[in-house]
Amino acid sequence: MISKVRGTQDILPSRFTDKTDAQIGRWHLVERAAREVFRRYGFTEIRTPIIERTELFERGVGTETDVNKEMYTFADRDGERVSLRPESTASVVRAYIEHGMFNQPGLTKLYYIGPQFRRERPQKGRYRQFGQIGVEVLGQSDNPAIEAEVIEMLDSYFRELRIIDTELLINSIGDGNCRPAYIERLKEAIKERLPNLCGSCKQRYETNPLRVLDCKVESCQPYLSELPTITEMLCEPCRAHFDEFRQMLDDRGIKYTVAPRLVRGLDYYTRTAFEITGKQLGAQNTIVGGGRYDGLSEMIGGPSAKGFGFAFGIERMVMSLPDSSIDPRADAPTLFIAYIGDDARKHSFALARRLRESGVSAVVDLEGRKLKKALAIANNLAARYALIVGEDEIKSGNYSLRDMASGEQQNLSEQHLIATLRDKDVVL
Ligand code: AMP
Repeated sequence: MISKVRGTQDILPSRFTDKTDAQIGRWHLVERAAREVFRRYGFTEIRTPIIERTELFERGVGTETDVNKEMYTFADRDGERVSLRPESTASVVRAYIEHGMFNQPGLTKLYYIGPQFRRERPQKGRYRQFGQIGVEVLGQSDNPAIEAEVIEMLDSYFRELRIIDTELLINSIGDGNCRPAYIERLKEAIKERLPNLCGSCKQRYETNPLRVLDCKVESCQPYLSELPTITEMLCEPCRAHFDEFRQMLDDRGIKYTVAPRLVRGLDYYTRTAFEITGKQLGAQNTIVGGGRYDGLSEMIGGPSAKGFGFAFGIERMVMSLPDSSIDPRADAPTLFIAYIGDDARKHSFALARRLRESGVSAVVDLEGRKLKKALAIANNLAARYALIVGEDEIKSGNYSLRDMASGEQQNLSEQHLIATLRDKDVVL
């Protein structure tokens, strides 16, 4: 047998898996809510290719970041270096430039849904292929109202999915004005503690000192908590931006914690950085990560443009869903039709077709099984209702609809049948 590649998952109909983040019904819910909530805030979808020129990520993501080191990169037959995207912000900004979207006045608000690829060490909530949903706001403005509204949208999204027990962490990581001086100071402080830090901290000290703050190794934590924060070194415009952003969150009644050592993994971030963490997720507890990236467009050869966005892992969002948001039968048919005899078989096919045209999800036995076996299949599919068609039903035009969970039966005309089932149908 040929098995799937390590660190990848098959997302399956719920009845084939108990792993919550591998159930398609949950994925649909998370995706559908995103489309709906983001639409309300004026975002539209963009779909970019999964494969891009490696150069895009080298310039955009930076060569000394974890994400870059984890990329799946290969030379195409003509020698061109291409990579499976490890994230989508650089792709979205590339498309923004390539299609001249920057020529339009006002903000461009985009969202994407799709797989990303990083060759990380797999563990719970961490895969080599994982789904991400993200948004990007691009344009000439860096008004903190953009940040505040995007976070309000996330708040609304979490409510829609009834996910509670999350924490919003915010920080400002400064800009090209104030960050260099901070990094110098940070480096000095790290240097003093270097012998006590882990191998990865030592390496980051050389290549990307800001990222030392991101280390999750337990034995490093006491030393990291002594490192200076950027907060008191922010330049005046960065400080004013951060203050205004916080005020706008306060105005919206959105709770947050300022996390002065929060940094983002990629090189292109400036000013606002934020994360939303979930309490139920264990070690990989960051659900959403985002921030401002005002220099990215120019870094990849475009005009100057400002940007703010976030991405969340679909698996982690799916794992955070409370049972109350999910109908366990969300991906099961509403009705299963079984029949007795040839006339009833024909009648059932026609009835199923009319029901489907009225919007009801109906499965009819196609295998010519005996009634008992057919009903066992209905059970297995987790169909909500079953209906048995025999001579009486054909003659009377009345059907007995059986609730598979309670065993209750209702006698209904076709018209009532449609109305009842339509009401119960779960639309994905
Ligand atoms: P990042 O693009 O690294 O800022 O990640 C944004 C979000 O994507 C994280 O908060 C996670 O929810 C998710 N994510 C990142 N890497 C992985 C991974 N390897 N497997 C699953 N989810 C991931």
